[in-house]
This record gives sequence, structure tokens and C-alpha cells, in this order.
Amino acid sequence: MLVAILRNGEKVNVAAPYWSTERLLKLKEEHAFFCPACKEPVKLKIGKIKIPHFAHLTASCQADSEAESTYHLNGKKQLYVWLKRQRLAAEVEKFIPSIAQRADLFLSFQHKRYAIEYQCSKIPPDQVIKRTNGYKKERIKPIWILGWKQMKQVGEHQYRLTSFHCQFLHSPQNDHPFIINYCSDKKTFIFFSHLIPFSKQNIFAASAMISPESFFFRDCLQGKSLAANGLWKHWLKKISQYRLKPLFQKTNEERKLQKKVYETVGLSLSQLPVEAFIPLKSGYMVDEAVYIWQCSVLLFIETLRADEVFHAEKLVWHLKKIGMKERSCSVKTDLKKPIIEYLTTLSHLKFLQPIGPYSFRKTSSPFHLESMEKREQRLGHYLDKEGMFFSAVE
Ligand SMILES: [Zn+2]
Repeated sequence: MLVAILRNGEKVNVAAPYWSTERLLKLKEEHAFFCPACKEPVKLKIGKIKIPHFAHLTASCQADSEAESTYHLNGKKQLYVWLKRQRLAAEVEKFIPSIAQRADLFLSFQHKRYAIEYQCSKIPPDQVIKRTNGYKKERIKPIWILGWKQMKQVGEHQYRLTSFHCQFLHSPQNDHPFIINYCSDKKTFIFFSHLIPFSKQNIFAASAMISPESFFFRDCLQGKSLAANGLWKHWLKKISQYRLKPLFQKTNEERKLQKKVYETVGLSLSQLPVEAFIPLKSGYMVDEAVYIWQCSVLLFIETLRADEVFHAEKLVWHLKKIGMKERSCSVKTDLKKPIIEYLTTLSHLKFLQPIGPYSFRKTSSPFHLESMEKREQRLGHYLDKEGMFFSAVE
């Protein structure tokens, strides 16, 4: 903890630049300190390893949900300094008694109230949801900043994304979702956008290290435009790798799909067309590997008669029936959204013809294997035109 109260009720914030070691030592000599939440005595620690902080003498405190690491303590102080430099009236460790929660940082910005949580330890998703809902009840918007140590890179532009990470997604209107990471060792933000899952836990992302001098609080709300033009090349490489994956390494879902693809069109999973791997803005909303849900849609289209018309709602119903579901994350997800985006893309690629906002006519089969290279190129051009992997300035 960086904040305690004195016997006279006065608050002391040791993260403030005023507190030199000398002043702190004098303060420690003259005062007793108490926790602002539970009112129990706390000790001021001035050591060599951790920055000066307060610690409870006994372990039980309602606002102290986790043991505080040096990484978290340092980050909290750095983020406080970062907000102060932007001339924002930020408070460190604000305790909100009505919900018994203590925000790492708290501020008002353009007439709205925000709580910043710097999450450095793995906590269950339901705890994140509970804390988010607590803030919402008080009309406070929570901003989750993820400790960089929690993110694991698994390949070029690829990261491991679990249900824990999904609770930290920010979503600006109709744009790519993003995640804000902060590393208190490197003193830098690592900003993620264009989060596009390939499989359930393997996600592609454009990322950039941004120094606190070039990253502003408003960027936490609106996001930042990142150059993502390298992603498509790596995405194609990932598809080729996937096609080479031997059957014995495949999951149950993949084996089931393999059987279905073989029975319907006589192909193996290694022969799936590139249109079963389309990166979509709303793709993260489906809790399934891209090739599994998109291939299931292609199989649905394949079994229609030539020129047959279908409603997207019928397809959503079909996918839910075979077990597809929405990804649970901090952003509202709806299976219909990625499905409409996918069907619209297939229409641009001439496999379907839109005949209403949610109705489509089958125009050709996606499972013929000629001109695969051309189709890859055509898809690349289309994504480029749609701004899927745009090249913006950082
Ligand atoms: Zn306490």
C-alpha cells in the first residue's frame, strides 16, 4: 500500500514526490499509521528492495485482496506519476466504502469517473467480473491495465490468450479490440490491437512499446492506431503450418471436423481452402478456432442447393446446435456479429450474394481447390481494401 491515515485522520501518500527518504524516516518516528479501509494499524516500510510502502501487521483486510509484489507496487507509483504529469487529479489507492473496493488509481476525466486497476497477478475471471460490476454500480468506469508479465508470446505477432486475459479487452466502437499492458521493470506501455484469434488460445496481435511520455490517459479510452501490415504474411504462414499438422496432434473437435469434411466434400483438413481462415475484426467473439467455426459455416453453405437462399439467423441456430459459443470477455459478444461479418466477406469473394441485410444466396462452392494461390491473393487484396491490416502511423 502507498496510502495510510494518521491518528488525526490525515492521509499520507508516500508515492508523492515530496517524500524523500529523510522526510519518511522522520514521519515514521513521529507517527502511527492506519489502513484507510479496515482502520487497523499498518507499518511504514522503508527498505532497499521495495519502494517505501505500508503493510498490514495482520493478514486480514477486505481491501487487500492480493499480496502486493514489487512489480505491482512500482507500477502503481509509476502510473500515478504518469497521470500527474498529464495534470490529472489522480488519487492513489482510493477506497470506496459502499463496494468495499480499493482502486489502484482513481480520477475524474471529462466529467466521468475512472478506476484504474493494474492487474499483475492471475485472478479468476469471476473475480475480475465482480470488481468490474462493483465499479459499474458506483457509475465508475474501470480501466484494466495488465501487468506485462502476464502476457506470453508464442510466435511472431502471436500471444497466448486465456479466459483470464479476455477480461481485459477494451473495445472502441466498431473498431479492433485492444489490451493495455504495462511493464514496471521496463517502464513502458505495451499496447495490443488487432486481436485476431487463430485457435482458442493463440491470438495474433499488432503490438507496440510506447513510452509513458507518448501514451496518454485518453489512449486508454480510445485506443491507438498501430501499423498491422506485417500480420497478413504471418497469418498465411500460420495457415501453412496448420495444414502440415499431423492428425495425431489434432484435438477432438478437429477430428470431428475432419470426419465431416471428408464425408461432405472428400477432403482432409490439410486441404481446407484459405476462406476457412479469414481474419475478422469480430472474430474474437467466437470461442473456437477460426478454421473450425468458419469451416462449419462453409460446410453449411456446401450442403445448400445451388441458388438456395438462407437467413443468417438459421446459420447462427445451426452453429449453436453443434456447440459453437460466444467467448466470455469484458466486451459484449454476440455470435451473430462475426457470422454476419464472415458472410459479408464471403459475398465480396463471390461465394454468396447478399439479398437483404441478413439473407444470402449461394452462388458457388468454396471447396473447389483450383487457383488457391489466386484466392489467397484476392483475399489479401480484399482485407487490405477493407482496412483489416492497415498501415497507420504509430
Ligand atoms: Zn486494511
